[in-house]
Amino acid sequence: MSITSKISQIRATLPADVTLVAVSKFHPVEAINEAYAAGQRVFGESRVQELTAKYEQLPKDIEWQMIGHLQTNKVRAIAPFISLIQSVDSQRLLECIDREAERCGRVIDCLLEVHVTAEESKSGWDVDSLRDYLASGAISELKSVRIRGVMGMATFTEDMAVVRADFERIAAIKRELEPLFDSSFDILSMGMSDDYPLAVECGSTMVRIGSSIFGSRQY
Ligand SMILES: *Cc1c(COP(=O)(O)O)cnc(C)c1O
Repeated sequence: MSITSKISQIRATLPADVTLVAVSKFHPVEAINEAYAAGQRVFGESRVQELTAKYEQLPKDIEWQMIGHLQTNKVRAIAPFISLIQSVDSQRLLECIDREAERCGRVIDCLLEVHVTAEESKSGWDVDSLRDYLASGAISELKSVRIRGVMGMATFTEDMAVVRADFERIAAIKRELEPLFDSSFDILSMGMSDDYPLAVECGSTMVRIGSSIFGSRQY
């Protein structure tokens, strides 16, 4: 099936208020161009070098999102154009994004990535550390980031009961944090190729889909 038909098939299954992020990491610009021709404008990448190279080559009305682990020394390269950083998982990173955004005269939208699984390898904010940070009030000093919501990943397993429990935890964290922010805290990003229908059932408003659109990644 073509990229175009895969996108329209996925879109047909998503409620109208759920944003589809096409995860194009490790796929060539030709594949992104095909998705673009099908009307897709929101793309997610996980590595800064690849993201900036694609940004240079592709149409400027694409909304680029960073979804992978971000090192502070790489923030400057994406600050001028990034539309959403989904993978904010530390105070240090958030403060760095704030500084770099201010340098560019921008406000950068961010999601707080939370870690809810037992797996060591997954990135994301430890939920208790995140609560402590938010309770400290330090976030109110940051004027050039806008916290738009929460992102999370479920355990890598075929056991959909475990996946559902993870999504429900992420959704509960989003609800818990809502009173600390204004109405722009409206994004719950969860769900990938193998689990997005379940994520949507659990309240996801943004799904990040790679292999179901572009096929397996070309590492
Ligand atoms: C790669 C990636 C995805 C997309 O994964 P697929 O299984 O290919 O849909 C989604 N979210 C994050 C954070 C990723 O790194």
